[in-house]
Amino acid sequence: MITRTMQPVQTISFSADCDNSAPRGSWQSQLSGAIRDPEALLAAAGLDKRWLSGAEGGHQAFEVRVPQAYLSRIKKGDPNDPLLRQVLPLEHETHAVAGYVTDPLEEADHTPAAGLIHKYAARVLMITSGACAINCRYCFRRHFPYEDHAASRAQWGRTLDYLREDDSLIEAILSGGDPLVSSDARLAWLVGELDAIPHLKRLRLHTRLPVVIPDRVDDAMLEWLSNTRLQKVMVLHINHANEIDDSVMKACERLRGVGVTLLNQSVLLRDVNDDVEVLRALSERLFEAGILPYYLHVLDPVAGAAHFDVPDSEAGALHDRLREQLPGFLLPRLVREVPGERAKTPIQA
Ligand code: SF4
Repeated sequence: MITRTMQPVQTISFSADCDNSAPRGSWQSQLSGAIRDPEALLAAAGLDKRWLSGAEGGHQAFEVRVPQAYLSRIKKGDPNDPLLRQVLPLEHETHAVAGYVTDPLEEADHTPAAGLIHKYAARVLMITSGACAINCRYCFRRHFPYEDHAASRAQWGRTLDYLREDDSLIEAILSGGDPLVSSDARLAWLVGELDAIPHLKRLRLHTRLPVVIPDRVDDAMLEWLSNTRLQKVMVLHINHANEIDDSVMKACERLRGVGVTLLNQSVLLRDVNDDVEVLRALSERLFEAGILPYYLHVLDPVAGAAHFDVPDSEAGALHDRLREQLPGFLLPRLVREVPGERAKTPIQA
């Protein structure tokens, strides 16, 4: 799960930890076994081959990646299933649309090397992994050249030095890609290094992994989370209530059990969640899982994702109606990321 803020000082990342020798059923084997082929995805979703040429076109631009645990929540044979729409490449992705670009947040201008991002006061963001467990078709980093930004152990050292030397920092944010694609051994090491920096108070993780592979929340992960003195915040990425099944509920319960505060950010997506009842149900379901709605982002104009766009006027009107339906603590903030701005921009109806 990526974080939407950019002003890189230096880029670092652990490589993805796909492990083909991992025990069957483990999160690592589920990660390795994710569907990466449009034809296999159509078969698993119960769709016929008329969808194939469009899916293959989209796959060329941004590969299919869907773990079985996420697929199991998709209604078979329904091309309009809101979870399937998030992961199924369509022919629309190959159409050039004015205003939709490969780098909508102009990250490339600010990413000269590797990924430590220091934009907001008192907190920094570390690109901990360039990989994800799932490839969301609307992702604003679907064209991001992560392979150019892998880093060495020495770069990690310099990044940690930067954090040590700036005592105005109180929060470290692990992002990506998805930071939880990295192994527990690596994350335990990194969090241990952060833990030893006296001025840091909080550790934040931006991730979609506990949602798409709930088994990622295992004993090894809970151990390094339990061992840090830092306050822990996890910002999940869930766009529809159907994404939260019993296994996700259980994963969230385990995270809360070791003191993790859970928040959610969603993206407003045409034909996925652009409906007041769907958004209301999402907020209610999040709260049942112990997660507070945090942000509802409008789509960033990334090439290949124009078919997901909901205009700001419509988004604002939806949000106004949602405000009438929900208590304030379940109402996410409707925002847009504007390149160069130092804070998210609220959207008004
Ligand atoms: S989880 Fe989805 S939205 Fe988040 S970085 Fe990965 S592909 Fe993009």
